[in-house]
Amino acid sequence: MTFAATILTLYPDMFPGPLGQSLSGRALSEAKWSLDARQIRDHATNRHRSVDDTPAGGGAGMVLRADILAAAIDAATLPEDTRPRLLMSPRGKPLTQERVRQLAAGPGAIIVCGRFEGVDQRVIEARALEEVSIGDYILSGGEIAAITLLDAVIRLLPGVMGNQESGETESFETGLLEHPHYTRPATFEERGIPEILTSGNHKKIAEWRLSEAMALTAARRPDLWAAYEAAHPPKPTRRTRSRAKGEPETKPANAPDSA
Ligand code: SAH
Repeated sequence: MTFAATILTLYPDMFPGPLGQSLSGRALSEAKWSLDARQIRDHATNRHRSVDDTPAGGGAGMVLRADILAAAIDAATLPEDTRPRLLMSPRGKPLTQERVRQLAAGPGAIIVCGRFEGVDQRVIEARALEEVSIGDYILSGGEIAAITLLDAVIRLLPGVMGNQESGETESFETGLLEHPHYTRPATFEERGIPEILTSGNHKKIAEWRLSEAMALTAARRPDLWAAYEAAHPPKPTRRTRSRAKGEPETKPANAPDSA
């Protein structure tokens, strides 16, 4: 099954855009996902082909018309289409890696890109659009938000990412921000690489990475850290048991280093 993305936009030429490059571009040419970017304006009804109108109640800007957007959505909907219908919107539920995973496991998505002040509320209700936000800031249109969402989804599709493991330890997948990375050269502007990483001791390296990830998360993202701690209550480990016997502790069991 190929992940089928249908985009409804006033700027179909923005697609695939960056999604035509690198991982997602190769996956697109290998038909691991498909893209259909459709022009909302094709469903305009007047001779000016207008898609928007002034807001009811007055005020600045223009609003995308419900009837025209609904016609565009209906025309893009296949018979027995089970794909979620998303509306990129700063009022939406903030996108998470969990939602990205769900989308990647599904048949695809119909994604509506807003412009101007947004879209008429009635089409959101009548077509049961799921509003999705990519963060607490305002873009000029939904296209870049849709590209962001698709980029996150596509890299998770089967066969797209070469090294599957690198997806599983990344930030958010474990509930923690990721540990720091190092590569050659061994010394950069007098800065070395933490010794443990060159020790060849894989168990110790894994422990170090987890402890760095915990410290980083606690320091930068108290929200994620609280959720992680709630899901991982500290277990009595050999270390904590030996500490109970009075031996000095080398590393905390579930407390991060101060960062
Ligand atoms: N007046 C609206 C903002 C409209 S911005 C408000 O205050 O809520 C125009 C369009 O850009 C929106 O319809 C939406 O499709 C897109 N957009 C802007 N910011 C976004 C964000 N943070 N996440 C997802 N889409 C966004």
